[in-house]
Amino acid sequence: MTEPFYEMLWDCAQCGAKGLLGVSHRHCPQCGAAQDPASRYFPEPGSEVEAKHHRYTGVDWRCTFCESPNSAAAAFCVNCGGPKDGAKDVKLVADGPEPAGPQAVTALKPQPMGSPVAPQTAFPKLTGKPPQASPTGSLRWLTIVVGLVFAALAVLAYQFFTKHDETVQLADKAWTREVDVERFTSLSTSAWCDAMPGDAYQVTRKREQRGSKQVPDGQDCRAVRTDAGDGSFTQRQECSTRYRDEPVYDTRCHYRVNRWQVLRTDKLAGNASLMPAWPQPLLAGPPAGSMGLSGGTALLGADRLGSKREQYQVTLQSAKGKQWTCKLSADRWAALAEGKPVTLKVRGTGGADCDSVMQ
Ligand SMILES: [Zn+2]
Ligand SMILES: [Zn+2]
Repeated sequence: MTEPFYEMLWDCAQCGAKGLLGVSHRHCPQCGAAQDPASRYFPEPGSEVEAKHHRYTGVDWRCTFCESPNSAAAAFCVNCGGPKDGAKDVKLVADGPEPAGPQAVTALKPQPMGSPVAPQTAFPKLTGKPPQASPTGSLRWLTIVVGLVFAALAVLAYQFFTKHDETVQLADKAWTREVDVERFTSLSTSAWCDAMPGDAYQVTRKREQRGSKQVPDGQDCRAVRTDAGDGSFTQRQECSTRYRDEPVYDTRCHYRVNRWQVLRTDKLAGNASLMPAWPQPLLAGPPAGSMGLSGGTALLGADRLGSKREQYQVTLQSAKGKQWTCKLSADRWAALAEGKPVTLKVRGTGGADCDSVMQ
């Protein structure tokens, strides 16, 4: 045996003696009652008593006649002499977070064979949870609320997908076109040096925290105790590694780099009376791709045209005065003539299906 065995404790239900030893006291030293294996429990940590010279032969069996625990090595009950045949092993005690007192109380069956010292009285039943209000009431409410939400969603979905045709007038046609103007600019920025662009200049390097890593930082250990089932238990240490965060440093590059930046956005807007046209921004500074530098590299301060965007919109009005605004493609917008009625599909929710605009 490599591990030492320790004494489980038990309390005598007959006379109330507490903290009796599971291996050494098979019977209560005060009143002689047989040990009830169901009353075994683990001692408070630190107050373990080693079961010296204990030879482990297996889990105790429980006498079918008098409920007494008997060593696995015994063929007959030490208490009443009953045979081992058909007897069951005693229940093992789980090591809970608070090893205080018996954790499970099992009522003892009346014994078929009379025995003067068999413990008849079970422990007072542990009080259960206080009676609670029936959960069916709140469950019913929850069902009703969920049902109502689903019903509301179903109505909304129905209204969204149900459309009716409406004949409307074109109240307004509007367009906007915009162009970005970009300037070749010297930017001050930073990046981790392994990701710095090749054309960076005026570089300064600094050590900065890039992230963190988990490093081992000692161990958390606890004793795991196992009921051997014969009034003794074994105990071993279970340890897990504890970790802490440690910062990871890297070199950060602070640098300047020349990039095209949006300087401003020029915009033109109009209605049906004005043909859509693109703004013509004035570009300042040295022209891009000229002078001195090789490969058409722009000079700082040069301007160029950036991205373009356009938007076409109509306002539609019903005879009752209700208005809808729709964004359309340039072609569909251009095809709509003012003064002619337009058909529009209107959803049950009141919104317009802008894809349905037709003349
Ligand atoms: Zn006793
Ligand atoms: Zn017995």
